[in-house]
Amino acid sequence: MTRADAVTRAHAMLRSGEFLSQLDRRVAYQTESQNPDQRDALRAYLIDDLQPAFDKMDFATRLIESPGQKGPYLLAEYHESASAPTVLVYGHGDVVDGMVGEWRDNLDPWRTTQIGNRVYGRGTADNKGQHSINMAALQAVRETRGGKLGFNVKFIIETGEEIGSPDLPQVCESLRDELKADLLLASDGPRLSAERPTLFLGCRGGIRVHLDVNLREGGHHSGNWGGVLANPATILANAIASLVDSHGRLQLEPLKPPRLSNQIRAALADVEVKPTADEPAVSENWGEDGLSAAERLYAWNTLEVLAMSSGNIEKPANAIPGRASAILQLRFVVGTKVDNIAEVIRAHLQARGFSMVEVSATQRFAASRTDFDSPWINWTAESIRKTTGKAPAVLPNFGGSLPNDVFTDILKLPTMWVPHSYPGCSQHAPDEHILLSVTEEALGIMAGLFWDLGELKRPL
Ligand SMILES: [Zn+2]
Repeated sequence: MTRADAVTRAHAMLRSGEFLSQLDRRVAYQTESQNPDQRDALRAYLIDDLQPAFDKMDFATRLIESPGQKGPYLLAEYHESASAPTVLVYGHGDVVDGMVGEWRDNLDPWRTTQIGNRVYGRGTADNKGQHSINMAALQAVRETRGGKLGFNVKFIIETGEEIGSPDLPQVCESLRDELKADLLLASDGPRLSAERPTLFLGCRGGIRVHLDVNLREGGHHSGNWGGVLANPATILANAIASLVDSHGRLQLEPLKPPRLSNQIRAALADVEVKPTADEPAVSENWGEDGLSAAERLYAWNTLEVLAMSSGNIEKPANAIPGRASAILQLRFVVGTKVDNIAEVIRAHLQARGFSMVEVSATQRFAASRTDFDSPWINWTAESIRKTTGKAPAVLPNFGGSLPNDVFTDILKLPTMWVPHSYPGCSQHAPDEHILLSVTEEALGIMAGLFWDLGELKRPL
């Protein structure tokens, strides 16, 4: 039995319908972590569905309760040899709101529906489909190797990712020894494009910056007061413009990341940001000068205005509003100093005469990524190339957020993320789906990776 047999076997799991019937069963659990009425579904998903699936592959499983009374965790372990590499795999069983009634053709989010190349259902892309692919690939390799894998596995599934993984850090901290591994190999988020297999090494961080200008109670007639009362909306607009200019370029040095390394430039040199027909076209003349679209998206910081308000836009009065506020978000890469971001912005605004603008920072998630010198990067990329015949896109991080810092900072693991979804997958919206073509390729990619892991005499 060979590597090619393992890949073929994984592909066959899609063609035979086995994979899709597993996925259909998993999608049926209404594991909405933001919905307190679905607490039982989170637990049932782990106990009734995943545990038996891991049992069949000779994994030892146990449920770990959340220290913060949130959804539980499942830890599944398989040990074969002390000298063989150990991989940690991560996934999440919870999903966002099903949004029943908002799907095309009134599709039921809690079952899978195949239409053409698409398989619809809540969680198909985020993340049930993705961890199911990884479990199926483990099964294919195990069957191909006659009941052995050739390496050790620790598989952790959480049920609180969509509420920000509130106690994943604490749980991983407390299981630090048990979760010891040589690398994290996990799947979440989209590929660069449906056609191109992708490896990303971490994620950007995010932080919200609230700007409030509160000058007085209520509005005052613009005819009686215009010219003698300061306008908070005008002040706010100018304050924002001092932070980010009309082309989306950051105006404040401390909000920028360190200079791009040559390694990052090299990795992104062949990465093209190419929206599909149903996605918006990339804006001309937007973002930092001298960077490619991929560099701006994956290796730079952006300050976005998420929301702003003043007066009543539905029914504007002929009045100078009393207050104005905006919520901005800094998306940032590793190396950006964000600890005292509110103070930095406040000092900047004060120096420019905007001392009436109140600044506060909320909702932060960390940026983290694996260093480009990790030997696992080439190893992973090479394995994907061998399976698919395509050079994968290697991204320093993906644009969104993941609890990657738990794995890099607490467990000190190199983090290899191989996503199985694509940018048009409508995750977190109605019509979430995976593509059959990508799923088949992904089953092969993961079987190839797991096969290759079993060929290593010792960890890299
Ligand atoms: Zn999600």
